[in-house]
Amino acid sequence: MNEVRKIIHIDMDAFYASVEQRDNPEYRGKPLAVGSSPSQRGVVAAASYEARKFGIHSAIASSMAVAKCPHLIIVRPRFEVYRSISAQIHTIFKRYTDIFEPVALDEAYLDVSENKQNIPYASTIARLIRAEIFAETNLTASAGISINKFLAKMASGINKPNGMKVILPEDAIAFVESLPIEKFHGIGKVTAAKMQSLGIRTGADLKERSLNFLVQQFGKSGQYYYNIARAQDERIVEPNRIRKSIGAENSFALDLSDKATILMELEQIAETLHERLEKHQTSGRTLTLKVKFSDYQQITRSRTFGSSINSLDTIITEAIALLGTIELGDRSIRLLGISLSNLDNVQTSQIIQLPLFQL
Ligand SMILES: [Mg+2]
Repeated sequence: MNEVRKIIHIDMDAFYASVEQRDNPEYRGKPLAVGSSPSQRGVVAAASYEARKFGIHSAIASSMAVAKCPHLIIVRPRFEVYRSISAQIHTIFKRYTDIFEPVALDEAYLDVSENKQNIPYASTIARLIRAEIFAETNLTASAGISINKFLAKMASGINKPNGMKVILPEDAIAFVESLPIEKFHGIGKVTAAKMQSLGIRTGADLKERSLNFLVQQFGKSGQYYYNIARAQDERIVEPNRIRKSIGAENSFALDLSDKATILMELEQIAETLHERLEKHQTSGRTLTLKVKFSDYQQITRSRTFGSSINSLDTIITEAIALLGTIELGDRSIRLLGISLSNLDNVQTSQIIQLPLFQL
């Protein structure tokens, strides 16, 4: 039974920016960012490859982007267009398999262990899909092919843009061992910095740490780190997963007791949540704050609004207000989380699964 799976990760190249360059020939070959303007306290949602040469990437402030590249072209996103191209790409996937899981408008995992055309090699399917995407949308995609989601995701970044990479089962361990810790998918900047401070610089270093140690240091994500250090990832490709909520949380290596630090962390979590809402172009009516104390007692507080919210200011203000309703006493906090539910605007092309781990 335990057959080796064939997983493909398809990732459109600089998606939003490439669409704008496709549709506006005057933008081609130029540094371009899709996002909101610096005056709106905006952030960059996507950057063209020309813009990336100036150090501009998604999630940086637009004002910072303009400072790095004064002749940067900034255009407003056209999400209806991106959504319809995303749907187009999904129809291409369906020619090969119904088991695909969109992670964002421009990214999806496919399980082609069994496929509709009985093609033996996943790399053949990846090549065909990329060719069909280009023929039908005039956009390029990169692909990663391997035996699980983690490896497929890592592989799709290797020959970007417009490239692909296979990681064979027999090469998986060596690949992971040599990988710098900050390159691991699922290990964000903050976690990577913490790992480096613990002397974990590569996959090989990570593999030397016990499960116990990793769980102690990183909470429930420790198990995931332990597995990926061994090139293992059992997560299945889940089609049609409908999101009921979007959230962000962080557990702390040192329990928090200082009010100012708690508020700072809460703000950072709100920012992560806000980024995710932006990425998924959604908003919601119910905001929930989760607080776990060092004695593992957990309290949640929710508030439902008359209309949907998604602005960063509202999220921060309301999360702080919810925190104010909790009697903290002199207990210290182990984990903080904010989520938004009663989501609207979730369409087929936005059926999205967020990673299980935090940033
Ligand atoms: Mg992409």
